[in-house]
This record gives sequence, C-alpha cells and structure tokens, in this order.
Amino acid sequence: MKNDFPVNAVGSETNPLLEPWGGPHGGVPPFDRIKVSDFKPALEAGMKENLEEVDRIANNAASPDFSNTIEALERSGRTLSRVSTIFYVWSGVMSDKNFQAVELEMGPALSAFSDSIYQNEKLFKRIETVYMSSSKSSLTAEQRRLTWLYYNNFVRSGAKLGSNEKARLSAINQSLAVLYSKFSQNLLSDENDRFIELKSEADLAGLQPGFREAIAQAAEAKGKKGSWLILNTRSFVEPFLSSSDRRDLRESVWRMFVNRGDNGDKNDTNGIITEVLQLRAERAKLLGYKTHAHWRVEDAMAKTPEKTMELMEAVWKPAVARVKEEVQDMQSLADKEGAKIKIEPWDYRYYAEKVRKAKYDLDQSEIEPYLQLDKLREGMFWVAGELFGFSFKQVNGIPVYHPDVTVYEVTDKVSGRHIGLWYFDPYARDGKQSGAWMNAYREQQKLFIPNATIVSNNSNFVKGKPGEPVLISWDDAVTLFHEFGHALHGLNSNVTYPSLSGTNVPRDYVEFPSQILERWVLTPEILQNYALHYKTGKPIPQELVEKIKKAATFNQGFDTVEYLASALVDMKLHLAGGAKIDPDKFERETLAALGMPREIVMRHRTPQFGHIFSSDGYSAGYYSYLWSDVISADAFGAFTEAAGPYDKGVAKRLVLEILSKGNSVDPAEQFRNFRGRDPKIDALMKKRGFPVGK
Ligand SMILES: [Zn+2]
Repeated sequence: MKNDFPVNAVGSETNPLLEPWGGPHGGVPPFDRIKVSDFKPALEAGMKENLEEVDRIANNAASPDFSNTIEALERSGRTLSRVSTIFYVWSGVMSDKNFQAVELEMGPALSAFSDSIYQNEKLFKRIETVYMSSSKSSLTAEQRRLTWLYYNNFVRSGAKLGSNEKARLSAINQSLAVLYSKFSQNLLSDENDRFIELKSEADLAGLQPGFREAIAQAAEAKGKKGSWLILNTRSFVEPFLSSSDRRDLRESVWRMFVNRGDNGDKNDTNGIITEVLQLRAERAKLLGYKTHAHWRVEDAMAKTPEKTMELMEAVWKPAVARVKEEVQDMQSLADKEGAKIKIEPWDYRYYAEKVRKAKYDLDQSEIEPYLQLDKLREGMFWVAGELFGFSFKQVNGIPVYHPDVTVYEVTDKVSGRHIGLWYFDPYARDGKQSGAWMNAYREQQKLFIPNATIVSNNSNFVKGKPGEPVLISWDDAVTLFHEFGHALHGLNSNVTYPSLSGTNVPRDYVEFPSQILERWVLTPEILQNYALHYKTGKPIPQELVEKIKKAATFNQGFDTVEYLASALVDMKLHLAGGAKIDPDKFERETLAALGMPREIVMRHRTPQFGHIFSSDGYSAGYYSYLWSDVISADAFGAFTEAAGPYDKGVAKRLVLEILSKGNSVDPAEQFRNFRGRDPKIDALMKKRGFPVGK
C-alpha cells in the first residue's frame, strides 16, 4: 500500500473535543466520537486559548469595569469548559487504564493552569478595583454577587500572597491533584478487582431471586459463568449483608468492603491520605487559616467548623442512644432464635431486617417487586410535571458514551418551550465510580447561545436479565429521587451568569434541593400510580404503604451514626493541623473518643473516603448532608403546613426563591425568602424519630 499522505491529513484527524458541540438544542456532547487520546491535546488547546483570553482581559488598556473584567471572564474559556466537562464525566463513568494515565498526567497541568489565573496580579488588581467600587456602581444584584464571588475566590486561592508563597501554593495544588487521582484509581481497583465468589446453592441461602440473577450476571461478566459473584461495591454488598443467612459469608463480604484501600497492597491509600492531609494543612497556613477545615467552611453556609461540630454533636448523642436500643432489639431476637451470637457489624443489616419484620411486619423483599426502576423514573417525571411544569420525552439519536445511557428532552408542559436535556446512566459497570451523582454538562445562563442546560443522573443499579424489569430497593428509590432533585436544581435555574447557575452553590446547601425531593417518593400519588407490581401491575397495597410509613424512623440510629461517624472523622482530620497522621490510628482513636458503637462501622472508612480524598470536594464538608437535611426537613414543612406536597403555590415559591436562583442570592437569604425565617433543627429530629430539644 502506498503511504503518500501524512497521517494527520487535513480534516481526517480533527479532534471532536475541540469542535463546538453539534446536533440539536444548541449542540450535545460528541460522546460517540471521543477517543481517550483526544483528551490531552484538547485540554492543552483549551487551556492555551483560555490563557490568551485572560491575558487580553488583564492587559486591557481601558480602565477596569464589570463588563470588561468580570463579565469578560465569564465569557472566556468556553472551549476548555466543554473539554474539561467531558474529561470529568469520563473519569466518573468510563475510566480505564488508558484514561487513568491521561488523568494522572493532566490533573497537575489543570491545577497549574488554574493557579496561573488566580495568581495573575494584573488580573486580580482589575477584579479588586471592580469589587471595591461595586457597592457604588449601578450593577444589578446578580452582577454584584458575581463580582464578590470572583474577588472572594481569587483571595481564597492566594491572589494576595507574595511570589514565593504563590509558587509553593501552586506546587502543593499540583501534588494534591496527583494524589487525588491516585486515590480514586486505587479505590476503583479495589472495587473492580476484588470480589467474593459463591460456588453452591448453599452459599445463596436467604438471597432474593432478583439478586441471585444479578450476581449470576456479574459472574458471567467476569468470565465465571455458573457461579455467583458479590462484587466489592455498595450495590452488591448491602443487599447481601441484609439478606444472606450465611453468617460466615456475611463476615467475609463485610471485611472485603470495609477494607477497601486498607489492605497494605499496591492499592492501599493510607500513605496517600497522610500526604494529602499534610499538604492541605500547609496550604491552609499559607493562605492565613488555622486549618484546612477553617479554610473550607468559611465560604459555606456554616461559615465556621465550630458551627458544624455543634450541629453534629447535637444529633450524635440521641443517635447513639437509639443505636443501643436497636442493638438490644436485635440481640433479643437473635437470642430468641437460639442463634447464640453477639451482634457484630456484619450482623447489623441482617438482624435489622428481622426486627423490621417482627416489629412492623414489614419485609423489604415484599416492597421490591413494586419498585421497578422504569416506573419510578416515570413517577419522578410526573412529580417534576406537577411541581415545576416540566415534561420529559425520550429522544433517540443523541450520542452517548455507553448503550445503557438514555436521553430525555425536558420541555415546559404548557408552552412547549425547550428547557434542557436529561441524560440517565443507571447501571453499575467496570470503570464507573460507585455511588450516585449528578453532572451538569452545560450550565443554564443567558450570556451566550446555546443557553439551555444539559444535566445527567448517574447511579449504580444492578442490571438484571435483559428485557426484564429492574427492581430496586426502597433506599435506592429514595436515592433515585435524590439525584433527580440535583438535576431539577439545574433544570430550574434561571440566572444570567454561568458561575452562579444551578448547583454551583456552597457544598452545605447543594444537598437541600436533592434531599427535599426525596420526600415525594412517599406520597400516595407516586405509590399508587408508579409503585406497581412487576408481574401483576397492581399498585402497592395501602396496608404495605402504612407499614412503610410506620417504619419510617426505624433504624435511624444506624443510618445516622454510620453517616455522622464519617462526617465527624472528616472534620476532625481537617481540624488536626499539620501533624503527620496515621489514618487508621486516627480513625480508631477518634471513634473511641466519640463512643462509637462497636456494632457499626463508618459509612466511608478513611481509606475509602472518596468524598474527601478524591478531590477537595467534600473535604471538611461531609457534614453538608446533615446541614442540608436540617434545611430540607424544615423547608418541606412549608408544604405540609399548606395543602401538602403538591401545593402549587409553595412549589412556585420553591422555584422562585430557591431552585431558580443558583448562587445569585446568598443561600441563607434564599431560605429566609422562602420560609420567612432561618432554618430550625426540630423537623430533622422529628423526621429521624429523635427527641426534639427544649
Ligand atoms: Zn446529593
């Protein structure tokens, strides 16, 4: 064959990541054309373009004003924003060895890039000038908020430091970027590579038919057809621990799961954590803060770590007291059965189910046949229609990165106006991070075209047999609505500037819209119309619904302690300062001092705590779920005090004051505008079945 054309011939090898998104609705991500090798050149080109734009802004001869500085920054970096969005999506859903190599290389480069902008002195001077004069100028409230945000972000990122300190800061950030990638990759390896194989019927004792099917499929996918695999992820481990009659296997599965990242092998994360904590402490000091926790919490709604500790401690004691009662119930049931055991952590979920049956006559496996993933998804759409006037319609032909992903167009039910797109990636697979999350592929904003938002929901449901309905647990149904709440936060957004849009709000506020939406799962409208038996099509019996409601505060001791132990350890790790920390030892001692019940393990033990070690994301921020839940429990009261969950007036106010605002209004003020006062803790305590304070 003749080889007379250069490989990079014109047009034949263009990088799809660099092209503006094509297709309908102002363009969609070109997921079908992406090669891992495209990421590095595209990110580099995006950074280069953005740096040139920023230099032009910084060196503008005209005196600084909002439009030529702040708004100009909002308009810059469009290419990089498109490319890096897909890059981060890939990291969550399509990570393989090739991609991980790119991630390890590009993490520090992206970090250095962002520091070079934050440390641009000319640029900061302009921002500072606009900020200092903003109160006297004729800016809109949103423009003033945006100006404050830029100023604040720059200062918090070291814009006021001397040049030596800036260099050190940037070096720290780059080291952290590498450590974060390594942490995620080690954890993913432990989740992908470890599993427990069940070899005979006897090993399956107690497992539900649907789950048996799923673990048989998992075995087949790993080339072990004919056996059954319990994979090392939450969606496999929790159903197994809840239902397996085999105490020995429960213990093995439990040990595998809670020791992720903690096995003293190549995937061990303890060393990474020690380094991350030291670098974070040093960075906080450089920036003038006492600890990393003080730095992180300052621009959250809580403002100080002390306030978060106050809330956590208020809930911790009643939760631990409740655990004692729960364990007692389980122990006496085990004794009555003649089990001759002492309740251990691998027994908790199993005996909790037995107590649930005995006390509330409620069997989780009785509920599951009514919880079909597809039907519940329709139910969520219906809720979004009732509350926000949205209509969802599946659209075909939109590029996706995996055949499991489906895409829906969201329109206004009445006017038909296009609102956005919602991508849904429901199933677990190799290379996908565990857990559930929402992404924004494109922010709502009004500054430039295209301005319609694109959001996605991702989860790790276990895929059943092809063609058969996927049945999920009650907890999973709640999570489904939770993530959809984040998506609706994005879809309801109505601001001008992308940096203030949708879910770009403080960490301890962002879970509020998602947690409040969880409440609609339990409404009769959803249960009667969407919780339908997968065989008979009949709605879940009212009697069963009553039992679910009665049992709503059941096991809240466990849920709260499991979560809070993680949140408290997170905060204490980041309040500890620069001392060299041995994560295992620190965790052990902290939990002992807290009086952690021995029957429960942290929801995320330190060596696998991806929320806080795979990025700065939730570091000193895992408390946010509780903080937000105080707000969401209280906010839901606005509905129950009115005509109920579907009260149109309250829903309208929720959109107007909260869901549409993004970060364009201070979160505490948003809540006050909605509720007429500051949040109170009482509704949360009541929801969890704990005594309401004085
Ligand atoms: Zn969430």
